Parts: sequence; structure tokens; C-alpha cells
Amino acid sequence: MATVEPRTAMGSLVSFEKIDNFREALSFAPREFDPSVITTVRSLDERNELEPFVRWILTDVSETPHGPAEIVDIFTHKVTIAGNPGLAAFILKGKSFPKVRPEHVGHQIYRLEKITDLSYAILGTTGVILDQAKEQFVSTAARTTKNYCILDAHDFARLFVGAGFLCPKDGRKIVAGRCMCGYSPSFRLLNILQEEALKELRRTRQSGRRAGLVVLPPGSGKTRIAAEDAKAANAKSILYVAHRRLILEVAVSEFEAVFGKQNVVKHTARPVKNARKRVNVASIQLVQQHLSYIKPDDFDYIVVDEFHHAAAQTYRRLLSHVDPEFLLGLTATPYRGDRQDILELCEGNTIVQYELRVGVDSGILAPFHYFGCFDDVDYTDIRHEGKRYDVRDLERALIIPERDAAIIEKWRELAEGKPTVAFCCSHLHARRVAASFRSAGIPAETYISETGTEARRVLQQRFQTGELKVLCTVDIFNEGVDFPYIEALLFLRPTESSRIFLQQLGRGLRKYVGKSHCVVIDFIGNFRNAYRILDYQSLVPESIRKRLASRTLLTKPVLDLPAGCRVEFDQRVIDLFFAQRLDPHNATRHTIGRILIYQYQKAWRRLGRRPTQIEIDRTHHLGRRFYRDVFGSWEKFQTIMNQEGPGEELELKGMDNARGWRSL
Ligand SMILES: [Zn+2]
Repeated sequence: MATVEPRTAMGSLVSFEKIDNFREALSFAPREFDPSVITTVRSLDERNELEPFVRWILTDVSETPHGPAEIVDIFTHKVTIAGNPGLAAFILKGKSFPKVRPEHVGHQIYRLEKITDLSYAILGTTGVILDQAKEQFVSTAARTTKNYCILDAHDFARLFVGAGFLCPKDGRKIVAGRCMCGYSPSFRLLNILQEEALKELRRTRQSGRRAGLVVLPPGSGKTRIAAEDAKAANAKSILYVAHRRLILEVAVSEFEAVFGKQNVVKHTARPVKNARKRVNVASIQLVQQHLSYIKPDDFDYIVVDEFHHAAAQTYRRLLSHVDPEFLLGLTATPYRGDRQDILELCEGNTIVQYELRVGVDSGILAPFHYFGCFDDVDYTDIRHEGKRYDVRDLERALIIPERDAAIIEKWRELAEGKPTVAFCCSHLHARRVAASFRSAGIPAETYISETGTEARRVLQQRFQTGELKVLCTVDIFNEGVDFPYIEALLFLRPTESSRIFLQQLGRGLRKYVGKSHCVVIDFIGNFRNAYRILDYQSLVPESIRKRLASRTLLTKPVLDLPAGCRVEFDQRVIDLFFAQRLDPHNATRHTIGRILIYQYQKAWRRLGRRPTQIEIDRTHHLGRRFYRDVFGSWEKFQTIMNQEGPGEELELKGMDNARGWRSL
């Protein structure tokens, strides 16, 4: 811990151990660890590693995660120091700054004074900080009466070992929950989101309610919540219904984990009459056929999974027939026209509601770092059957050795070593991609519907131990792939709807020890509606987005990203989006304008200043002529950009928006 005497009593130095948000990470820290941990800490990149790690540790779902401003190179987060909550600004310097000089932090320190409501200033450096830089930081903090804290490499080492990011024995980064040396940090079995839901369920029962709906994003472990809560409610006879076979299988294993194998039965015929156990899992179709065998008070705890189907006749009949002590509805998508009906079936009682967006914004789910890479597959001649592309045609277009080589190159560049799931267009495609990875020396296998139960178990084990790097699959829901330790996703087929995009993405966002974010590599060609991918990033379901769109002005952020997320598109992808938006079917001034702003902000961030008209002309296909056409004139466009800035504020605007739609 570096110590600096405060110049005045107004803003004073606080020890990082006093930051309550860090306490849990520190309590796990060993007294001593190998010096290699410090070496690793010094090698961490400020943007892609240091910041996500710190954000991960800071998260407390019961607090508003963000303050009023995201400023260039500074992130703000609400923290509690010695019991006093307040907004903290973090300036983090990683491997790019082995020696932190005044000019490295000057602009950020200057910015500190501009943030309103700031209580704490925190400077973290993994390298050496020169006295002048330190003094500049301390005197600004003191003058503006902010308490401040300085973190050095040893502090980070304690935090990161304690939080399970780094192995204390050899300093290696922990992947998929364990180190190559065999070390595995202890971590909670339930994720924060599950704990939160269980807490609320307890509360709702205490208040006398007998039904409730839990809305959680795909892949966040809903079934485990049902099993844990049924146990907490001390239920004697439990019925679990859903309508898809694979979901039933997941339910069986989750309930077995909580109640023991001997207490769980999956019914395949006459569900109530014969062989009932404490936990009864059945398809809704079966229950419906044998409803006459069920007495209203047969079950004291009933779980209806995929509750968005509950408005269907079959479910209604069941729910009006039974009278359990508690009815739990589970769903990921409550936003349908008949939403009100569904809620009524649960006494209008929403227990928790987390969409993917809220999950990421509040730190319950991991943020994503998304890379939209150009894919020169030509989709124009691939047959499209109204809803999707013809699979045989797709196979012919996508199974090309050159494409696989490009995919592997990108993976090496952006996600090497991370447990990766690749989404392919067919079984054949999945097998070919896996083979390509293998021939490049990267262990890869297919995980598809024809993969047997025993083979799946072995694959999962090899995947989690890091022996296997890439799993190639097709339809994630049908295959039942749901591994929280996934740290990278490859989208190798056209993503034709936001539903598919969100389902795929959701599989990578579960939190796990040692995982700070999920890398997403998307290969984007000229497939139908590719330009809509820009909109999917905000993780807001289509139905809500439509309602928001009418209110969204041109000057709203181009990419309305959830907290901690990053998005990069190749220039050729941007050109492609633009071309599609120029298509008379899709084009509006609004959609084209958003792309132009994105392109401009990207150049602004790269240059560190506003690009000129000439620079835009020289380096982009969409030159100044387009800006004139869409915005009227370059000057008018500049006026708009005066309000926008270079785009680093996107994340916070995302938060504002999230608050907006939550209150819809
Ligand atoms: Zn180790």
C-alpha cells in the first residue's frame, strides 16, 4: 500500500481495505502468494483485464451500480467506504504504463473535478507511479475535498487472487474455474442472481403470497432456483411441468442435486397414480392427459417453467384445477401481448425480473466484448425460405477451408485459450469447423443432438478442465449447452433475429469464478437484416425496443451498450450495414445517421480528437457527402456531435435507458 500524506484534512487518504465492496475478495486472500502473481498483475491490460476485474469485484446488486457520469478513461461506480456510500471515480493504469508520468493521468485528473456528486477518487496502477503524478492526483483530490485511495500492484494481487481471477501458486489466470496446476478457488455455488431471486421468494412467502413469477435471462439457472426454493419452502410434494423434453431433463438433474436422486422421478405415463416421489417432473402434455388423476391438493409446490406459455389452454386447465401452497412461474420472456393474463395466473406477483440488459447493467451477468468481423460469404444467391436460409445452401457457402482459417485466426487473436462455443449452421458444418480447429492444433469437438449422454459427460469434463478448447454446436437450446464457464462465443452462421442473437449471447454471460467478461466473435456477411445487429447490442427485447424507438431521437447514442460492454465492428461491416440501410426497404434517415455517427465516433476515439471532413473522406467509404445528405450539412452534423462527444459515454447512457424501460 502506497502512502501519501494528505495536504489538507478535507480530502484524506483511505486505505483500500476500508472499501467495503472489496472486503469479500480480501477475505479470501492468502497471506502469501507466489511472486509470479505480481508479474501477472503487471502484465494486465487496463481496458480489457484490469477494469473488468475491478468492476466484477465491486458489484453489489443491491446498490445502483453506476453514478452520473462515464468520462473518458474513467469509470465511475458506487462504492461504500467504511460504511459510507458514495460515487467513486476509478483511474486504472495497467501494462501500457510501466511508469505512470504526470502526462499519463493529467487529463483524467482534470476530469475528476468535472464529475458532480463525486465522493471518492481511486487511482490504481500496476506499474510504478512517479511522485509528480501522484502529487497531482492527491492535490486535486484534496482540493476538491474528495477522499482518495491509491492501489498498487500488490493491492491488485491480493484482490485478484481473493476474487479467483489469479492462481496464488503460479500467478496464472484462472480459466473455467480452475488453474492448470489444479488449484481451484472456492466460490459460491449459486450465482448472485439466483441468490437474489431466492431472497425475494422467501420474502414473498413471508408476506403471505401464494404465487409468483420469476423472470430471468436465458442461461441464468432458473431451474436451480426452483429446486432450492422448493426445499426452502419445505415442500413435501412437488410438481414441475414444462413442455420441452430437454428442459425436463435439466430439471431432473437440478432437483436431484438438491433433493437427492432417490427423491426425484420423471414421469412418462400416468404421472400421479403410480410411482410418485417427493419431486415429480412431467411434461405439460402428460399432465394434461392425466389431469383427472390429480387431486387439487396433491402437490403443495408447483413449478411451471417457460411460463410465457401459461396462457395456453393446457396450462390454464392445470392451474385452475390445482391448489398448491405455492405456485412458481419461471420465464425468460414475459413480454408478449398476453403478458397481463400470464401475470394474473401468478396473482400479478412478479418476484424478480431481470432481462439480459438489467442482468449485465447490474453486474449480475458478465459483460461482453463483441467483435463484428467481416465475412465475405456472399448470401445473395442463398435461397431464403421466408424465415430462414436453406441449410444445404448455407453449408455449401459456409464450409470453406479459407473461411475456417480466417475464423481460427480471429479466435487466436481475440479469444485464445478461452473455453469457446461455436454456433454452426448444421451438424455437418459443426463437424467441419471442429475438424479445422483440430488440424490447427486446437482441441475441438462437436456437441450436437446426436451426441450420446456418456459422450456429453466426457466432453463437458474435458471442456471444463481446459483440455478441450472449442465446442461446436448448432441449436443451443436443443443441445442443452449451458456451461457458466464459457468465456468466448463464435457466431459462425447468420444471426437472423434478435431472439437468436440474445439466446446465443446469453449462454456466454453467466458469471463464473475467474471470468470477467465474455468475448463474442461474430462473422457478419451480407445476410438478410445483418444491419439489425447494431440494435441487438443493447440487449433489449424487440417488443420493448419498438416502443422505445418511437421516442428515440437521432442524437441518442448509436450503440446503447450495457455497462462494461464493448463493441467493435470492422470498417467493412459498417459499410455493409450502411449498404443494407440504404436499401429502400430499410432506409430511414435515422438508421443511416446512427451508422454515420458510429463511424465518426470511432475515428474520434482512434485519433484522440475530432476527425476532419478530409480524414473521414480519406479513410471511410461513407464520406462527407453522406453526412451532408443525412444531416443537412457538415456544420449541422458538428452541432449534433457537440452534444455527443467521442462516444465513451455510451455506457452510462445505456444505464439511463435501462432505467427508462424498467419503469415502462
Ligand atoms: Zn496455478
